[in-house]
Amino acid sequence: MTIRRKTRQIQIGKVGIGSDFPVSVQSMTTTKTRDTDKTLEQIYELANNGADIVRVTCNEVEAAESLVKICTRSPVPIVADIHFQYKLALAAVKAGVQGLRLNPGNIRNEKHIKEVAVACLDADIPIRIGVNAGSLDKDLLSKYGDATPEALVESALIEARYLEDVGFDQFKISVKHSNVPLMIESYRLLAEKTDFPLHLGVTEAGPLPGGLIKSIAGIATLLSEGIGDTIRLSLTTDPVEEARYGRQLLEYLNLRERKSLDLIACPSCGRAEVDVIKVANEAQKVLEKEGLPIQVAVMGCVVNGPGEARSADLGIAAGKKRGHLFIKGQVVKVVKENEMVAALLEEGRLLAKEGIEARLAAADKDAARLAQEDVNQLLNIQGDINNFEERTKSVVEITSKQDIE
Ligand code: SF4
Repeated sequence: MTIRRKTRQIQIGKVGIGSDFPVSVQSMTTTKTRDTDKTLEQIYELANNGADIVRVTCNEVEAAESLVKICTRSPVPIVADIHFQYKLALAAVKAGVQGLRLNPGNIRNEKHIKEVAVACLDADIPIRIGVNAGSLDKDLLSKYGDATPEALVESALIEARYLEDVGFDQFKISVKHSNVPLMIESYRLLAEKTDFPLHLGVTEAGPLPGGLIKSIAGIATLLSEGIGDTIRLSLTTDPVEEARYGRQLLEYLNLRERKSLDLIACPSCGRAEVDVIKVANEAQKVLEKEGLPIQVAVMGCVVNGPGEARSADLGIAAGKKRGHLFIKGQVVKVVKENEMVAALLEEGRLLAKEGIEARLAAADKDAARLAQEDVNQLLNIQGDINNFEERTKSVVEITSKQDIE
């Protein structure tokens, strides 16, 4: 198991950020903040899809006013995103936000930054120092010649000093870059220099699928090194998707308890007895709706399927126009091919309710025998894919013949 980098702890409303707490997922609304109802509607949707914290832009006076109602009615803590106008930061604090994000690249006046820090100190809310390669301080850009990891980290540490000067230490830091290797390097460097919690993200990652691949490459690399306490996937798509993907990433890395379906499937091959892509997509659609927090496998053939997916809670493997339904690798039922998805759904519901032991005990008595019949028939037709030794012997025999051209 990955050992998390030891950090200080901060609190954004009810969500703790730091090595003592689970890594959290953040997302950001795309609505106009002044439209209170629409913004709240999106916040609820984000929260229902895995966001622990939601960031909302506070870019005008009407937005700050709207934040009063938003913060009161939101199901998750709200962080106000501030650029350029420090007075909007002060207004957001008064509105009742649970955190602020400041960009050191565009709020540069030391006096203003300290004024905001004092307001946050009084309100007992944290700040994220959100450095972004795309809006790096001009002086640092000319000092380093580019938005290098050193420049990003220096920008963050200058801001950190301003905050600490007024006795404020409730902050976390991000040093986002759109270039994945530079983003990774920036966070590694920052992690060496400070013990403040880190908010991870690849900035301007872009639309799917590239944006998702970049975000996962950067964030997962750092998380696997124990670096990172809260994440955001900055995707150019419906933010509900970024919240969902963020949550799933943490579940796949075993950093959060599974709350959603994990559907695994074989990639299919010439042995497949069914259209695996079609069955897997259908199963995903039906099972996702149920919100079952289990791992389900869809495998194209019974010869290898149940064995290869034996760690899955539940699975189905195709063979001879039938589907072998299995729990933890043990076949519990044999169903018709066109009933495979329905059988997964039915068993999935029972499994979530009764547990694995009870469902294994309730297995059809004939299931193992019927399953073995299918496996034997397929082995007779296709041969045993695992029979490496015999096949290797045959290949060597053929290739060692003198008359091969
Ligand atoms: S489970 Fe069967 S069909 Fe799927 S990839 Fe493996 S051998 Fe091929």
